[in-house]
Amino acid sequence: MLRTVLLGPPGAGKGTQAVRIVEKYNVPHISTGDIFRENIKNGTELGKKAQEYMNKGELVPDDLVIEIATTRLLADDCKNGFLLDGFPRTVYQAEKLDAFLEEHGMKLDKVIDIEVEKEELITRLTGRRVCKACGASFHVVNIPPKTEGICDNCGGELFQRADDTVETVENRIAVYIEQTMPLVDYYKNAGNIVEIDGALPLDTVFGQIVEAIGE
Ligand code: AMP
Repeated sequence: MLRTVLLGPPGAGKGTQAVRIVEKYNVPHISTGDIFRENIKNGTELGKKAQEYMNKGELVPDDLVIEIATTRLLADDCKNGFLLDGFPRTVYQAEKLDAFLEEHGMKLDKVIDIEVEKEELITRLTGRRVCKACGASFHVVNIPPKTEGICDNCGGELFQRADDTVETVENRIAVYIEQTMPLVDYYKNAGNIVEIDGALPLDTVFGQIVEAIGE
């Protein structure tokens, strides 16, 4: 049983660590960003609503995100735990999540906060390339794929996210500092947060996450 939230700015490596965590602990990876991108791809009403905020690097309105996330948490595959990635992102979302979990007799085991300084985030995000098929992340300089534009894992096509441009990235980081950072104190008060330096190598970060969660 593992109920965890991954917290941290865009580009801290949450997605990359999430892939490893779900493999090790066998829980579903719930990324509200992925849910929105899937809806945009499929041209749904939800996708249309979310897209205007996402392209500007702004947050999708709380009530919409809370509805999406809590509906997903009620699915059968979350009975033995889950990994939330990119949700909650505001204190209001965190309060609603706590209320929802309490109502269903659950609580969070751990909140893992991965922090990285701003300049490094900008470099990481603007160079990021993501696989269309499996979602794996690469970087044009730091983690180049073996063949340019092609995913090492599955052979899928790599693309640049619409919100990974310089202007949007700056805004996403500003939004993180203003709206999401207060969650660190929120979870410190709850006493279940672990802070990890996301500038360390990927394997070291993962090792510290496993240490925090337990084998
Ligand atoms: P991510 O893939 O987590 O970086 O999310 C991409 C974008 O989706 C964000 O910049 C927001 O516009 C939107 N989004 C994802 N999760 C949330 C959330 N919990 N609250 C508000 N907006 C979100």
